[in-house]
Amino acid sequence: MSYDFIIVGAGIGGITIAEQLANILNKKVLIIEKRNHIGGNCYDYYNEDGILVHKYGPHIFHTNNRRVYNYLSLYTSWIIYNHKVLGKIENTLAPIPFNLISIDKCMPQDADKIKKALLDEYAVNDSIKILDMKKSSRREIKQLADYVYENVFLHYTEKFWNLKPEELDPSVTGRVPVNVSYDCRYFQDMYQGIPSEGYTVMFNNMISNHNINILLEKDYKDILTVDYENKRVLFYDEEFDGEIIFTGMIDEFFDYKYGHLPYRSLIFVDETIDETKFQENSTINYPNDYHFTRITEYKYLTRQVHDKTTIQFEYPIKYDPNADEGNIPYYPIPQAKNEELYEKYKAYSEEFENVTFLGRLAEYQYMNMDKVVEKALDLVDKFIDKSK
Ligand code: FAD
Ligand code: UDP
Repeated sequence: MSYDFIIVGAGIGGITIAEQLANILNKKVLIIEKRNHIGGNCYDYYNEDGILVHKYGPHIFHTNNRRVYNYLSLYTSWIIYNHKVLGKIENTLAPIPFNLISIDKCMPQDADKIKKALLDEYAVNDSIKILDMKKSSRREIKQLADYVYENVFLHYTEKFWNLKPEELDPSVTGRVPVNVSYDCRYFQDMYQGIPSEGYTVMFNNMISNHNINILLEKDYKDILTVDYENKRVLFYDEEFDGEIIFTGMIDEFFDYKYGHLPYRSLIFVDETIDETKFQENSTINYPNDYHFTRITEYKYLTRQVHDKTTIQFEYPIKYDPNADEGNIPYYPIPQAKNEELYEKYKAYSEEFENVTFLGRLAEYQYMNMDKVVEKALDLVDKFIDKSK
């Protein structure tokens, strides 16, 4: 069979592009995926006890982008789910992001004056990045910022990234601000939820068109050869004149020509317990204790009713492609020097006319699912325009 498009990676980015190309443009698409399943890091499955779990960490869909939400809604209905996180701070469990309730719980002696200062300096519902709040000259706000920095961010970030918060791009800790409100939701986006039958069912619905073929458990390097001299890609050693969409690691594609882009990895440890419930909330963060960062109990997310419950621990680890553990590049590391290195790859990639790089690994960007889908839809718009 001949293909118009070859997509490397069956994550949410690759699948969205394949769906659109096949259904809107009637293109023949091959997806090459090295894992034994589709869905990339969003993959979910029923474990041996029959509990639906997310293999690569809890995935909550949230967006303010109506187009993205409407698009995915063609392939799934939703469990309306507003994620909440509690953090184990000293001897209490407090809402994360830290908010007015967290102040009451963790700093009861000084809560009134701190809340008053916050409401003087900011507006209700403001979200403030911890690294900005730390710069405040007002005593009560500085006291709050120092407390939150020390008890929520510092040790979690060191554990997670092996870096201090200020060594990372401020957008990283900015994902979890301090909220001047009583809103305990982790995200404030307009649309939030979990696909009713799970992500994998949604993805299977998306790729049902017979114009889409998938090769699982195949590394693209077994099929595609990059011809660096002529800036082309060969498909089974033959010239391929269609388009390639690459969603794997951009540094791997260019054979690490400029050096390795650094990533952070995780180990997930699942445990099924013979009780209906383990903890009082879906996710509990442990910024200051243990080697793991958080425990998630999946039944809260999926609303599954079951006699047992599965919990998942997340242990951060150095990324090493050759190790038995830590060999999946889950997180690009947002730092200026890494961005500079990525820019070199990006500039070189532009010389390859029929190859497009999209997604968290290919663009070396700490993106949520909705951003990847948005970019995938925008990319297909360009192919649609070209075809007119
Ligand atoms: P991926 O899902 O990484 O897909 C890339 C695919 O390419 C993979 O399947 C990979 O196996 C394949 N591939 C790579 N190299 C090769 C090769 N050499 N040959 C063949 N195939 C290859 N986002 C949210 O919106 N909400 C959340 O709650 C959320 N939680 C997260 C929790 C964790 C622990 C992590 C790690 C991420 C989370 N995300 C969340 C982010 C989300 O996972 C990503 O935005 C999304 O998966 C990116 O999709 P993608 O298609 O770019 O990449
Ligand atoms: N973070 C933290 N303490 C927390 C939660 C988050 O220090 O309790 C910091 C940490 O650096 C983390 C970043 O904020 O990597 C982003 O957190 P988020 O929950 O968005 O991470 P993700 O869900 O993508 O793993």
